[in-house]
Amino acid sequence: MDTKRIEKDSERSSRHELADYEEVCSSFSWAGARHELDGLPGGGLNIAWEAVGRHPQHGRGDVVAIRWLGSDGRRRDVTYAELDRLSNQFANALRNLGVGKGDRLFVLSSRIPELYIAMLGALKNGSVFSPLFSAFGPEPIRQRLEGGDAKVLVTTPDLYDKVAPLRGDLPSLEHVVLCGRGTTTSIQDTHDFDTIVDAASDQFEIAATTPDDMALLHFTSGTTGKPKGAIHVHAAVLAHHVTGKFALDLQAGDIFWCTADPGWVTGTSYGIISPLTHGVTMIVDEAEFSAQRWYEILQNERVDVWYTAPTAVRMLMKAGGEMAAGFDLSKLRFIASVGEPLNPEAVVWGHEVFGIPIHDNWWQTETGGIMIANYATMAVKPGSMGKPMPGIEAAILPADERGAAPITTPDVEGELCLRVGWPSMFRGYLHNPERYEQCFDGEWYRSGDIATRDADGYFWFVGRADDLIKSAGHLIGPFEVESGLIEHPAIAEAGVIGIPHPLAGEIVKAFVTLHHGFDDTKELRRELKKFARERLGPAVAPREIEIVGELPKTRSGKIMRRLLKARELGLPEGDTSTLETS
Ligand code: ATP
Ligand code: MG
Repeated sequence: MDTKRIEKDSERSSRHELADYEEVCSSFSWAGARHELDGLPGGGLNIAWEAVGRHPQHGRGDVVAIRWLGSDGRRRDVTYAELDRLSNQFANALRNLGVGKGDRLFVLSSRIPELYIAMLGALKNGSVFSPLFSAFGPEPIRQRLEGGDAKVLVTTPDLYDKVAPLRGDLPSLEHVVLCGRGTTTSIQDTHDFDTIVDAASDQFEIAATTPDDMALLHFTSGTTGKPKGAIHVHAAVLAHHVTGKFALDLQAGDIFWCTADPGWVTGTSYGIISPLTHGVTMIVDEAEFSAQRWYEILQNERVDVWYTAPTAVRMLMKAGGEMAAGFDLSKLRFIASVGEPLNPEAVVWGHEVFGIPIHDNWWQTETGGIMIANYATMAVKPGSMGKPMPGIEAAILPADERGAAPITTPDVEGELCLRVGWPSMFRGYLHNPERYEQCFDGEWYRSGDIATRDADGYFWFVGRADDLIKSAGHLIGPFEVESGLIEHPAIAEAGVIGIPHPLAGEIVKAFVTLHHGFDDTKELRRELKKFARERLGPAVAPREIEIVGELPKTRSGKIMRRLLKARELGLPEGDTSTLETS
């Protein structure tokens, strides 16, 4: 693993909260951090109050909360005061429909302002919010609405075409609300979003939710199997707020862009809740990825803090650093990435192109918020996920044993575990209490990811426990092999699996995609194998390298190694509801 460090430009990071990491960690407590939130005026805690309701009262009503960029070129600014009023109206509209505390509201839409209004209104009403990715097909939609006991669905007329034929199978789905003024009135058994919102009062007393009341239902990415529904409570907002400050460096006056879709947990925890609790302006881009458009947004919207994902970074790398050179990106102060391991190559590329490294951080749907991060003032070791956030105790435990003590020797592989008790920890898997119980081992939450910790306290991702390859007595993490491969100038992305072998147990096989300008030739294949052997050593280098047009990925951009494996071995593909299809 690359242990080069990227030291920090002190001017760009000097104001940061974690300037003295050790000191902050030792004095931090979640109870002590609670004063950064207001709490409901009548007692209790509600995510939407912390995100919007309280800001106008503190004189921040005129700040732009959402700067929406439509895919058709339209723009809309929504201030905190407007977002507060609109979400009050939506909450009243829900109440008028007989939707109450604990009732489940799902949103199936692209990134449009109504999504944000509906989420905040639902939370104000004490209802539970669950986002769905707009590109889901009818079956994944049906499964989630049914399993999640959806009472209300907010969607658009186009997307409703996928749901209308299912309504007979969804008896608990009482209300469908369609967004898009004037386009929805003639559709049977639905309400028009604007009509019900316009008719409702903009004054609303937020439901008296407690920190332990259920607030969000998030489905996992489905990278390793059937997506699980993770239950989150209002207390999570404290973790969203604190980690926004520590891990993303959010500061008053910032323009912040989280590129994740709210269909995934990153898009709600850090694409909605965390930035709003900090009162910053968030960019919401409705359009899908395009390198040109993204650089234009970073430049023209003067983005200070940008939170994205490795797959997007690799796509920008594929588009070439020269494209970036045509833009003025000097306003960018901090870049972070999550979702998959960020290859060292990508960190170094980011440093070259943006003048600042890309800061990897690690968390899961289950953890609700960022747990381990490269924060602004630390020296980045490319390929490392960083260090645990204040209030988070992370440890490496033996992977195949329960009840064992943490491994304290540096650089030893084991399961990444977190001491139970942070506020955004999930409180259950939907309809699966046994699976939830299995995640805990005494005081520890077991993440299912394999990692190491080095002598400086940095954590390094090795792979998901399910993806590790056992070859001739070696335990090989796919990330190490993939990162080595993409250092070859021809390779854009790599997905690595183990395939059964009579002598070695398993052998390493890599699937790779090529950068523009490279062709799949015999010579190139030979060269790649040679490069891999030299770079990784014969024990770890893939025995087979197959060049493919694209790798199977989840809609949130994660490489689905289990599908590469199933296809290679001719096994059933399992749940493919989150598979991205072009
Ligand atoms: P499923 O649980 O359904 O298989 P998933 O685990 O991909 O899907 P998420 O909760 O969205 O669902 O993703 C969390 C996982 O993503 C982590 O457990 C880890 O494997 C991976 N991950 C997230 N961030 C990082 C990172 N910075 N480095 C390495 N892996 C990461
Ligand atoms: Mg998972």
